[in-house]
Amino acid sequence: MEKRDYYDILGVSKTASDDEIKSAYRKLAKKYHPDLNPNNKEAEKNFKDVNEAYSVLSDKEKRQRYDQFGHAGVDPSYGGGASSGYGGFTQNIDFGDLGDIFGSFFGGGSRRRSSAIPGENISASVTLTFKEAVFGCEKSVNIRRREKCPDCDGTGAEKGTSYQTCQTCKGSGIVRQATQTLFGMLQTEKTCPTCKGSGKIITTPCRSCNGSGQIRKERRITVKIPAGVNNGNTLSMRGEGGHGLKGGPNGDLNISIKVLSDPIFSRKDFNLYCEIPLTFVQAALGASINIPTIDGDNIAYKVPESTQSGTVTTFRGKGVPYLNARGRGDMFVTFLVETPKHLSSKQKELLKQFDAECSGKVYEKSKSFWEKLSRQ
Ligand SMILES: [Zn+2]
Ligand SMILES: [Zn+2]
Repeated sequence: MEKRDYYDILGVSKTASDDEIKSAYRKLAKKYHPDLNPNNKEAEKNFKDVNEAYSVLSDKEKRQRYDQFGHAGVDPSYGGGASSGYGGFTQNIDFGDLGDIFGSFFGGGSRRRSSAIPGENISASVTLTFKEAVFGCEKSVNIRRREKCPDCDGTGAEKGTSYQTCQTCKGSGIVRQATQTLFGMLQTEKTCPTCKGSGKIITTPCRSCNGSGQIRKERRITVKIPAGVNNGNTLSMRGEGGHGLKGGPNGDLNISIKVLSDPIFSRKDFNLYCEIPLTFVQAALGASINIPTIDGDNIAYKVPESTQSGTVTTFRGKGVPYLNARGRGDMFVTFLVETPKHLSSKQKELLKQFDAECSGKVYEKSKSFWEKLSRQ
């Protein structure tokens, strides 16, 4: 979106004096002030624009840079790929004696008519075996959270007693204040400090919750862990955290996942890795072996003749099920040739006889390596 020219926004010429700019600003700020235009998105946007324009054009140095370089001269985010120069920009305006009024607007908090308080988020953790993480499972976690008081149904008032309407705000939850400002009288609205916005005063607080409307409760929550989760993942259970107050939403229960290692398999994302040792003879002559899978069944596999140590074979779709999606990752099996140890003298003798039968063709890699070296 093209940013509007600051002089256009204030409706003044490029040669306007400081007084002309100030007077144009006062008029427009009053016209678009959010307290005078409740729930008017366009006025809100205009009000921001007017303030932004004024913050630049009322500052001698900034105005000079703006005249010279345009928006890029006063807003570092402008033209640098950021879609909007607003956001944090208006926060930096120094309103001086207007601060009280505009502060309440930009601060956001006191403009909220509702005094709803969201419930707190709760953290918990579960430890899974390697296979539980791969295939999913159900786990229980013990948590402590604030819940709606069942005795007063969260109202905070003792059963059978009632509320009084707040005298400060007459039950509206909002207090209005007329303030003298640079551009005349302005009415501002604040959350009522007496009833904190509820409009009601509790005469007899509930004994179970002392009038807070909430009690702390221990809970054992069953968590359905989906297949494919991994160490370090966090599962969020919406609304399973603390109870919200005054219509605020409940918090979330965030469960961090720890996964134990497996003696056979390791994992990266949704792929599984497994190292299978082959004897020197199996690798040379080939062999029929059973390859283990995470599912528990074996794959009958023919190791080809002359398999080299470090050879990797891929088994498609034998990895970890994708989290919340169809399909699975792959399994990568690395064959490692094991050199025999603790040989008897007879075994050594047989190997020597075998070696005597070996010409250079048997060990291609060794032969070519030493040849290359001798040519250096
Ligand atoms: Zn209660
Ligand atoms: Zn009140």
